Amino acid sequence: MSDCIFCKIIQGEIPSAKVYEDDSLVAFRDIQPAAPTHILIVPKKHIDSVNALAPEDEALIGKMFSVAKEIAAQESVAEKGYRLVVNTGAEAGQTVFHVHLHLLGGRDMRALI
Ligand code: 5GP
Ligand code: ZN
Repeated sequence: MSDCIFCKIIQGEIPSAKVYEDDSLVAFRDIQPAAPTHILIVPKKHIDSVNALAPEDEALIGKMFSVAKEIAAQESVAEKGYRLVVNTGAEAGQTVFHVHLHLLGGRDMRALI
């Protein structure tokens, strides 16, 4: 996807603060953090949103959660708690249409939905 900002980050055309990378996923710090720890876990394969997931993406999506768990420990938020969020569609607040998992931690989020 030539006009996708996350594809550009994956291809190194736009810089990012990467915290993890393997053959299928990358994770980097959100440019506008909503919490002290705010990391985006992103598949290298371009998928618009959860609405565009195919059965063959199931392992990839599962791996996003496994990597989130590892990053939460690395960022020292695993014990206190963290939130994993996937916005899907405009009304849910999705602004980048390349599927991604937000990892948010380091502050009290109990009063928020
Ligand atoms: P969404 O609203 O689609 O669930 O989340 C998109 C996220 O991507 C937002 O939290 C936004 O701050 C972040 N973002 C948008 N552009 C960039 C960028 O160029 N670099 C980084 N690191 N994050 C970005
Ligand atoms: Zn993309």
